[in-house]
Amino acid sequence: MRICESVEHMRKARVLMRPDRGVGLVPTMGALHEGHLSLVRAARARCDSVVVSIFVNPLQFGPNEDLAKYPRTFERDCELLEREKVDILFTPSVEDMYPKNAVTYVTVEGMSDRLCGRSRPGHFRGVTTVVAKLFHIVEPELAFFGQKDAAQCAIIHRMVRDLNVPVEIVPCPIIREADGLAMSSRNAYLSPQERKSALVLYRALTAVKSRFDQGERSVRRLVETGKQVLSQEPRARLDYLEIVDPDSLQSVELVEKTALAAVAALVGNTRLIDNVLLSPE
Ligand code: AMP
Repeated sequence: MRICESVEHMRKARVLMRPDRGVGLVPTMGALHEGHLSLVRAARARCDSVVVSIFVNPLQFGPNEDLAKYPRTFERDCELLEREKVDILFTPSVEDMYPKNAVTYVTVEGMSDRLCGRSRPGHFRGVTTVVAKLFHIVEPELAFFGQKDAAQCAIIHRMVRDLNVPVEIVPCPIIREADGLAMSSRNAYLSPQERKSALVLYRALTAVKSRFDQGERSVRRLVETGKQVLSQEPRARLDYLEIVDPDSLQSVELVEKTALAAVAALVGNTRLIDNVLLSPE
């Protein structure tokens, strides 16, 4: 595995790769777990060359968020990626990615302020800006994203469509711990007690899904069911539980076609998200 620590180095390495089945990019912020590795494996299966980026993107963190203490496990990440036979690891510095006086952003209007975007102003603008930059630097044919961040997937899909970016976005399923907790780098923050409490997100979504499977289609009643479960866990503070159109992220009142049930909550000081799809068929 080659490690490219600068934009210039990455561009030079890219010129040397002109394979038949294309280059696959897996953007990450590191502290890798099986969720990330599932994206790498999906990329490995479909592409000749696999590029993984590790970049803790300051632009997507709010002023009171966990940028400084975000988990960084670089050596271990390298070992894991070597094992997955990744071709290039791209780890640019913040200064290289954001030259002084950088003032250009990509915003997907009307979507960037939905779900997490409401409580994290500027978050999705940070995500779309860095992903657009990564696409320009790496020039992948395919890029792999986890459904765990369903709003992010939808927003990137829209950005790529609106800006005619020649990259195929490949969404990949959520990888969970054995007890159902969605894997996340932020799970490392949880105390053993909080780790147990964190399961309430999945429990709430499971309750919503089972009520949906029993025939309930009213979003108001489905959301009530989920909130009821969440209210039973004193360590969890709900940010939102919403059922929306998975492509536009707009609210719906009745689930007549596939909808996204998404939840975000603070468990202790750790903000966790999860989601399930509700499909009428
Ligand atoms: P992050 O490092 O948190 O920015 O995540 C990098 C990529 O990994 C994003 O596309 C995430 O959606 C994806 N990802 C994170 N956790 C999971 C998971 N549990 N299952 C599937 N994909 C995930």
